[in-house]
Amino acid sequence: MRVGQGFDCHRLVPGRPLVLGGVTIPHERGLEGHSDGDALLHAVADALLGALGDGDLGQHFGTQDPALAGAASGALLRRVAERVRVAGLRIGNLDATVIAEAPRLAPHLEAMRAALAECLKADPARVNVKVTSSDGLGSVGRGEGIAAQAVVLLEDA
Ligand SMILES: [Zn+2]
Repeated sequence: MRVGQGFDCHRLVPGRPLVLGGVTIPHERGLEGHSDGDALLHAVADALLGALGDGDLGQHFGTQDPALAGAASGALLRRVAERVRVAGLRIGNLDATVIAEAPRLAPHLEAMRAALAECLKADPARVNVKVTSSDGLGSVGRGEGIAAQAVVLLEDA
């Protein structure tokens, strides 16, 4: 078995759609980034790469790559999930937490979980997404951005 963890944080800016966990969520601001800024998918991808001992997302998909400008992070995560399969491993379970002050994400948790499981070709029962706020503290608490963290356990396929 192999364990990996990932963390990511993106700034909230006007004029962009808010995409989290592969789901577009109605909000007046979206996450800034070279790709769609999906902090949850980036944290999950980094957790998978960590478990593989295979570096991080930035090493595989650099921000200098013009082909990735505005890219759906789901496409990047699918490529990372493929590396897991090539290594002869599968997801034992995945647990992720999104830290956001607004918007209210609870109504979107099931959609994020389903999108994540589909992206990873994993059993949805082995994928968990939680959401919390930082109780008004710090930059995330002031609504300046959204953070996500993820832990994954990989096992022999
Ligand atoms: Zn990111």
